[in-house]
Amino acid sequence: MSTSTQQETLGFQSEVNQLLDLVINSLYSNREIFLRELISNASDAIEKLRFAALSNEALYDGDTGMFIDVDFDRDAGTVTIRDNGIGMTREEAVAHLGTIAKSGTKEFFGALSGDAKQDSQLIGQFGVGFYAAFIVADKVTVYSRKAGTPPEDGVRWESSGRGEFTVENWQRPTRGTEIVLQLKDDAKEFADGWRLRALIKKYSDHISTPIRLPKEGEDAEGRETVNAATALWLRAKQDIGDDDYKGFYQHIAHDFDDPLCWVHTKVEGKLEYTTLFFIPSRPPFDLFERESKRGIQLYVQRVFIMEDSEQLLPRYLRFVRGIVDTRDLPLNVSRELLQRNKAIDTIRGASVKKILGLIESLAGGEDYAKFWAPFGRVLKEGVIEDAANRERVAKLLRFATTHDDAATPTVSLEAYVGRMKEGQKAIYYLTADSHATAKASPHLEVFRARGIEVLLLSDPVDEWLVTHLTEFDGKPLKSVTAGKLELPGDEAHEEQESDETPALVERLTKALAGKAASVRKSTRLTDSPACLVGEEHAMSANLQRILRAAGQEVPPDQRVLEVNLTHPLLQRLEIEQDDERFAELALVLFEQAVLAEGGRLEDPAGFVGRVNRLLTAAA
Ligand code: ADP
Ligand code: MG
Repeated sequence: MSTSTQQETLGFQSEVNQLLDLVINSLYSNREIFLRELISNASDAIEKLRFAALSNEALYDGDTGMFIDVDFDRDAGTVTIRDNGIGMTREEAVAHLGTIAKSGTKEFFGALSGDAKQDSQLIGQFGVGFYAAFIVADKVTVYSRKAGTPPEDGVRWESSGRGEFTVENWQRPTRGTEIVLQLKDDAKEFADGWRLRALIKKYSDHISTPIRLPKEGEDAEGRETVNAATALWLRAKQDIGDDDYKGFYQHIAHDFDDPLCWVHTKVEGKLEYTTLFFIPSRPPFDLFERESKRGIQLYVQRVFIMEDSEQLLPRYLRFVRGIVDTRDLPLNVSRELLQRNKAIDTIRGASVKKILGLIESLAGGEDYAKFWAPFGRVLKEGVIEDAANRERVAKLLRFATTHDDAATPTVSLEAYVGRMKEGQKAIYYLTADSHATAKASPHLEVFRARGIEVLLLSDPVDEWLVTHLTEFDGKPLKSVTAGKLELPGDEAHEEQESDETPALVERLTKALAGKAASVRKSTRLTDSPACLVGEEHAMSANLQRILRAAGQEVPPDQRVLEVNLTHPLLQRLEIEQDDERFAELALVLFEQAVLAEGGRLEDPAGFVGRVNRLLTAAA
């Protein structure tokens, strides 16, 4: 006997041990999900066999009646789940049941907080999968044989879930996988026909393969199918209840929670396809993982082909979960083919419209915050990414503004435009690294004084948003920190204007040479002494900060210092005779303006020294 057929004892990958601890400790109250997870794997294995058999029919070996059988033995305290799907080789059993190869594993472990309740929510989204068996079992034995391999190449895998497992070759007459759970003492209740039937109905009704239990009762023989056993999305819409949709969502999204909403569409015509999309009620843990490919499952004529959200939906809809099933693709379609496929382009375009329609219907209701809070930041990427739907996505955006201080942004661009001041030509915004900094910015003073609303943008993505969303409803978007302002109400303030540059401004310009590009009298300020302003299309201070934080080179730029000549500090400067003191005060004025917009000083220690000298002199 060669060594490879002998029994080996191997250790779990360390992440598996961590996951097992977490599963066993935090999912106790949810432990019935073990059955859903194991049936889901059996169903996946059957889908994989169907797919592989498309190009190699011999894999069926005459056995095409697909099933998932569940058995139980009250006396022995076992539950068994058996399928005639693709099966596993010995190497696959070692790799798939002993390691976690899922994308996002690192992110998942990074996101764990140590708080059992929070972590059990995360784990639900990560999908505990096979390891859920150990919530109810203190020993799990897996027998499997890969389709297309001989009986002697079968495998037996066994573990008690504590650190290690054993594998050995095992003669197995049929292909597929059988999983035997030796139930823990406190989980013996699951070795019961009624209990199992109820769980299958509750969690696995939508699985398209028959799930069969032994018939019960005196002299009962054979098996009966417990689930509906048709692909849920192919059933007539009026025959599908909300609970069916919710159960199906939980299956495909690995989520314990209900979805926020869904949209189910059947299209018949030149192209024939069905789509079913869900918006989750919580963000998946890898929402900001741009590489994440989870989300949308592609079926061709009811055969599962691949899970790949990229070809089927744009990235900014990556929070959507669901399925696309079509007759109009070849069954052997590959990722590469998908990229250049007309049918997929059409389905994708129509799907985006359906999903935007779904979000629009949420936006019209009371509960839009439930969508916006978790997903708003991602939806904003749509304005950048999806030029064709830019205006439509823009209408769905919500902002904090100077007129609305709600914790979750609520102001739409339409609402903003609807209450613009007479004569107001632009939609004004301010970007900053936090809502608090934005709200306190001196740049807002004149807007507050004249009652003009300003959007307060503090998501990192907002900087890119405003470079792509240059106008809405024919009105340009304009930063309050750049260029010259033309505001309604300017006329009333005009008589004070004169073309002459005040001597103080000239003196400040000289004193701040090398710091500010120039100094000018402000039209923005009413209370603060000074603020910094960029050129009309200059990069905002916030964007410069973001780019620097990301390690990018940002060309040094000098901005204009606007000063409020009516402020006491400026009046104090006006009468300063000592040039050295004037220069020091001017510098402090400049540095204050940098700080007020959340910027970083080049020489913070120098600033502190200057302020302290001033404070001591004042005492
Ligand atoms: P996932 O289903 O998300 O891949 P699981 O932890 O549920 O993760 O399963 C891990 C892997 O084990 C599966 O991807 C599959 O390769 C293998 N596996 C589990 N159950 C079966 C089964 N019944 N038949 C064949 N392979 C299986
Ligand atoms: Mg699974």
